Amino acid sequence: MTAGEFCLAIVGGGPRSTYALERLSATIDRLGGRRLAVHVYDDGGDFGAGQVHSASQPFTSYLNRAAHQVGFAADPSVTDAEPIRDDRPTLYDWCRERFATTGDTTFDLEPADAPKRHQHGQALREMFDAYAGELRGKGVSVVLHAEEVTDLVPADGRWEVVSASGSHHTADQVLLITGHSSNDYSDEDGPGEYLAFARRTGAVYMPSAYPLQEALSLEDPRPGSTVGCAGLGLTAIDQILYLTEGRGGQFLLDDDRLRYQASGSEPAMILAFSPSGVFPYTRPINRKDRPHQGRFLTKTAIDKIRKSSGTDAGDDRPRLDFDAHVMPLILLEMAYLHYRTLFGPVAGDLIVESVHEDYERFLTLPIEPGEVERLLPGVEAVVATLPKQLVPEPMLKRFDWRTILAPIDTSAGMTRSEFRLTYLDFLRRDLDWAVQGNVANSFKASVDGVWRDLRGVLSHAVDGGGLTADSHRRFLEYHRRCQNKVSGGAAPEVMAKILALAEHGVLDLSAGPRAKIAFSDRSFVLHGPVTGLNAELDVLLDARVHAFDPARDIRPLYRNLIGRDVVRLWRNTTPGQADFVPGFLDLDERSRPVGHGSITVLGPAAAARGTYQFSALRPDNNDVVMREIVAWLHGFWAALDHRRLP
Ligand SMILES: Cc1cc2nc3c(=O)[nH]c(=O)nc-3n(C[C@H](O)[C@H](O)[C@H](O)COP(=O)(O)OP(=O)(O)OC[C@H]3O[C@@H](n4cnc5c(N)ncnc54)[C@H](O)[C@@H]3O)c2cc1C
Repeated sequence: MTAGEFCLAIVGGGPRSTYALERLSATIDRLGGRRLAVHVYDDGGDFGAGQVHSASQPFTSYLNRAAHQVGFAADPSVTDAEPIRDDRPTLYDWCRERFATTGDTTFDLEPADAPKRHQHGQALREMFDAYAGELRGKGVSVVLHAEEVTDLVPADGRWEVVSASGSHHTADQVLLITGHSSNDYSDEDGPGEYLAFARRTGAVYMPSAYPLQEALSLEDPRPGSTVGCAGLGLTAIDQILYLTEGRGGQFLLDDDRLRYQASGSEPAMILAFSPSGVFPYTRPINRKDRPHQGRFLTKTAIDKIRKSSGTDAGDDRPRLDFDAHVMPLILLEMAYLHYRTLFGPVAGDLIVESVHEDYERFLTLPIEPGEVERLLPGVEAVVATLPKQLVPEPMLKRFDWRTILAPIDTSAGMTRSEFRLTYLDFLRRDLDWAVQGNVANSFKASVDGVWRDLRGVLSHAVDGGGLTADSHRRFLEYHRRCQNKVSGGAAPEVMAKILALAEHGVLDLSAGPRAKIAFSDRSFVLHGPVTGLNAELDVLLDARVHAFDPARDIRPLYRNLIGRDVVRLWRNTTPGQADFVPGFLDLDERSRPVGHGSITVLGPAAAARGTYQFSALRPDNNDVVMREIVAWLHGFWAALDHRRLP
């Protein structure tokens, strides 16, 4: 560091580093004649894209967002973000431009198409370089370190940024945007047992999914093998497509449906399984101009319930119980949207009128224990009077939360083949509904309008210790999974491929619900208690994204910061309940460790303050991801002004 120079260290070179450089360069005239150095650290050297969106990842991994809904810069919708740059391409614009200049048809996208993650990575890298170039043009020194930061050591009011190679740089301000990491689960039930079994017997277990090309080579798992995939989320989809299409298999268009043509290099069978036994629902095509505004599930309603029914925790924020206080509002909002979509706005008005008294009572009187569907009788009363024969046949006629959560009824038992056929029917129907979109299809409209559009209201209920300790634990362990299942799925073009693989048979989903791993002498065995499946596996893949957990993180940075009391773990403390310590960091309202205003932490490590901040930037949406960067930037300039450097 040069004398008199102010130094910013950015740890993590993912998308947030691009957004941070964008804001910094847009406001760099504030620097005046002062000198600034920006040091960016990324252990993979993927500056601007990071590991998740790396440009070098396989072509088979999709971005879970329509191309026109991905931005790179602050826009006028973002609170307090002035000045805004005029040139703000979306990922769609960037892909069109790339197609025009290269003729490469993989960039020939429509606005609503799901781009590939490597394409997003290329665009991010280009934007990052452009913003870094702008900063350099204004005399700022931008230095990139392809290194892992392992510690921050206090040094005379500044920080020594220590990296794995042992290098040290002094920083005045540190922005920690390290994103998702991987954990060492060797001491945990499940993964720990699998690792121990694999070590003992030579059975093959792959505990980490990413980077895909490192975890799964083209020969391993070997062609013709039987692979178990523990998970049915987006990570499993990445793995499944990489092991099939990534090994030369092709999807051919046959009568409007995709058909999979194997290459012979893929596994003979990929048995994918999870506790629910089903993939997340297909994400509907977005046909809305603007997000749904809550009619019942609103911040005002949450505030009223907090006052009337919250548990006093000795501060000004009585705690809510998500099941008792929030779920009934969620289901009411979903049912309202569902039937308004099916029967039109007049039916919606009738429902509002019919539930009015129950709803007001729910908000203002102490809430007794009850079913999550407790606010639905007023809805059902209206629906009973409506002409259901007018509803087009492929629509889901009745709103039923329990069926949504468990779409395949296995209560009477099912053979493997029955489950497979029923599930294939379900996948086909769900895909059709997703193509109908989030406005015309009643089921998709209700799920998308509530679990996606009203995430801000859910944050208002949950974040910063909004729930009791017990309820917060259940929210993270159960409700977030339900949310991912119903609204966090992949785009129709991706699920069309999954359907084609399942129809072909290389993807086998017949394990059914509650499938478990058992052990034979030398291999893992997948057991499906409902369908009776028992299959020996050559390889078991773990297909989950690891939650932020400094105690288990394979990188030592946060463990070291906790060890030297720079930051501590956040606790949810509720009288009469055991404290809940989910592993997130304890940060102030500006996302800084208490007592250390020169460090800002954003992303998964800061999830106690923000449940839904882990996605690519969405333009024209006052996106919280950019609002946080803007808030950090204001603090950054204030700190620099305060230093009064020459
Ligand atoms: C597998 C996966 C798929 C996803 N897909 C999507 C999607 O399709 N759409 C979407 O909107 N969101 C997706 N997300 C969410 C994702 O969190 C955000 O899109 C985005 O990547 C967040 O950006 P970030 O910069 O905060 O973190 P990241 O993208 O995680 O980047 C952080 C970077 O910091 C590096 N790093 C970490 N620790 C250190 C250290 N100590 N020293 C140096 N470098 C370090 C990491 O290697 C990484 O390159 C996905 C997440 C995962 C895990």
